[in-house]
Formats: sequence, structure tokens, C-alpha cells
Amino acid sequence: MKIMVSACLLGKKCKYSGGDNRNDAVISFLKDKDYVAVCPEVAAGMPIPRPPVEIRKGRVISIEGKDLDETYREGVRKTLEKAGPVDMAILKGGSPTCGVHMIYDGTFSGTKIPGKGLLAQALYEKGIPLYDEKDIERIYGGK
Ligand code: SF4
Repeated sequence: MKIMVSACLLGKKCKYSGGDNRNDAVISFLKDKDYVAVCPEVAAGMPIPRPPVEIRKGRVISIEGKDLDETYREGVRKTLEKAGPVDMAILKGGSPTCGVHMIYDGTFSGTKIPGKGLLAQALYEKGIPLYDEKDIERIYGGK
């Protein structure tokens, strides 16, 4: 079984802010498992740090109002191609690219709504089981 994981959950500093989202439950869960770490926003050619984006009316828009939809979708295409087939994915919740259950609503006001980021949506459409870091914490508790 091969697992796709958001690289920032493993401690890679690829977040828009230049930080990471290191999660010990995810790291512990992946120990001795076959996984591929991805960051679709970096794959899109975006720099670190970079302006935050949200999904507004189905398109990826930066906080400065720039439409980056095609750039981010290309990053997702490259990520899927490079990673190859996977059996499940553990992705960072809330992200416009990786978010599994909830995403921000496009107003940059910190408001979350049900929805998926672009990569999560693409995997969902392929029938890949998706979890975010909270799911892993709840199920495995970092043990
Ligand atoms: S795109 Fe995904 S992997 Fe990259 S920093 Fe954002 S949440 Fe993490």
C-alpha cells in the first residue's frame, strides 16, 4: 500500500508562510509504511513563502486578488503524475489545495466551509480514501 502525504505534515517548510504543519501522529502512523510526500503548491512552481490563496466560486484566488487557478491545477496534475498510483492519502486539513473536509470560503476572513482542496478533490474523484491530520490523530492518537 502506498500513501500520499502532504509534505508540510512531515515537517517540510513548504507552507505559504514559510513554516510547516509537522504532525507527530501522522509521522508515527507512517513509520514503516510506503509513502510519497507531496506539496502541490510547490509543484505548481510557487515560491516559499507565497501569498495565501483561497477558493472563490471554484477558482483559486490569491489574497491580492490574482487568479492562480490554472497554475495551481497544473501543480495538482504534476503532483499526481509524479507520485503515481496511491492507495490512500493523508492531507493537511483546511488547505485550498490539500484540504480534505473543510476549506476557507474565499473571503480571507478565516471562515471555513465544507469542501475539498484541488488535490483532495482530484483524488476523491479517483476513489482514493482521504484523511486529514485530525482524522489520524483521532484514529491512531499518535501511538
Ligand atoms: S500545498 Fe499541501 S503540502 Fe503544500 S504546504 Fe499547503 S497543505 Fe502543505
